[in-house]
Amino acid sequence: MPVGRERGFGLVLQAMAFAASKHRRQRRKDAEASPYINHPIALAEVLWHEGGVRDPVTIAAALLHDTIEDTETTPEELSGAFGSSVASVVEEVTDVKWLTRRTRKELQVARAGRASVRAKQVKLADKICNLRDILASPPEGWTREQQREYFDWAKRVVDEVRGANAKLERRFDQLYRERP
Ligand code: ZN
Repeated sequence: MPVGRERGFGLVLQAMAFAASKHRRQRRKDAEASPYINHPIALAEVLWHEGGVRDPVTIAAALLHDTIEDTETTPEELSGAFGSSVASVVEEVTDVKWLTRRTRKELQVARAGRASVRAKQVKLADKICNLRDILASPPEGWTREQQREYFDWAKRVVDEVRGANAKLERRFDQLYRERP
């Protein structure tokens, strides 16, 4: 369901504040250990500026995309605060925690094609941001082989979601060509 412009701004700001609070003690794995919240904000920017996405539910879900997976946040908490549309997109992009890393990654490939268009766009933005981060400042201790593996896995996910946002898909493909 589309959200009106006024309420859209409010929703996005509320999501930003909520995510900033939930991620406040987390750092990214880059050499500078930059604040975690920079990552969800980067996704929102990619969606808006590069993907032309104007749907506040998608932008809010991007800001919140790692809260269930990486912080003490429940789906019920999200639907209470932001409504079920936002919460369900975040759930769609959340990996199942109790599985091994390898199984989680395979499952993400398998589930990607069945995701909603909103969730597919969030996935695209996430992969774009992660490739950029690896190219600019790889996670501490990652070998070139690990970087390549990430690029290839990200491409498998993106190949499953094609058709959701042509601009973002092109942007991803450009970045993939810079594979380490
Ligand atoms: Zn992410």
